[in-house]
Amino acid sequence: CGIVAARTAEPVAPILLRALKLLEYRGYDSAGVSIRTSGGDSATTRTIDRVESLQARVGAWSGADLPGTGIGHTRWATHGAVTEQNAHPHQDCSGRLSLVHNGIIENAAALRHELEEKGHVFASEVDSEVIGHLVEEGLRHDDDLARAVTGAVAALEGSWAVVVLDGHTDRLVAAAHRSPLLVARSPRGVFAASDINAIGEWVEHFQAMRDGDVVELAEELVWSRGGLPAEQPPMADSVWTGA
Ligand code: GLU
Repeated sequence: CGIVAARTAEPVAPILLRALKLLEYRGYDSAGVSIRTSGGDSATTRTIDRVESLQARVGAWSGADLPGTGIGHTRWATHGAVTEQNAHPHQDCSGRLSLVHNGIIENAAALRHELEEKGHVFASEVDSEVIGHLVEEGLRHDDDLARAVTGAVAALEGSWAVVVLDGHTDRLVAAAHRSPLLVARSPRGVFAASDINAIGEWVEHFQAMRDGDVVELAEELVWSRGGLPAEQPPMADSVWTGA
């Protein structure tokens, strides 16, 4: 029900966890984060408990105070029970990719069946998991995360705000369709969130993704639609009030 993503030269774990706390008001049944530190170490942790318990687990990890890239999620389950296994971030078969998704993939059952026939093994009951396997499949043919995400979302029906983190290359790509997702760039880093409230502490301006947009969160925000470079939507001011 809430998404955050960040790439920053500051410790990334505290930013993600603070943002998840700020998204709590939207309601959730489970939460999780995936982090890749600037040193290349990765970790994923998920819980059906409160965000505080994630905080304790991430705090005990050696990468907790390192800069890096990460994604976080608060889930409001639509497909699959409320279990740690079904909580986001989800992964591909190899564990290279992590992703968070808000929304509903209406053709998930058919896609899952096709992917299983190609040898993909699923770790959860959640519709969102197909996205990671579709991206993985795309990367087999063309090792470019932005193009693989573009190809994956072209196969989806339904609604999505999704952010995919590639643990090998450290690339971070967002896509949106009928589900809110904002992206922002500031001297503190590049960010994505479903609500400006979650990231307003680190940015002054943001842009709302439109249906069909794909944005790579690199040093700059790189916009595309259907695989072609896209014009950027207008910039809006952050309305974060420090509450
Ligand atoms: N459909 C996904 C799930 O059941 C995402 C739900 C959400 O938006 O939090 O996990």
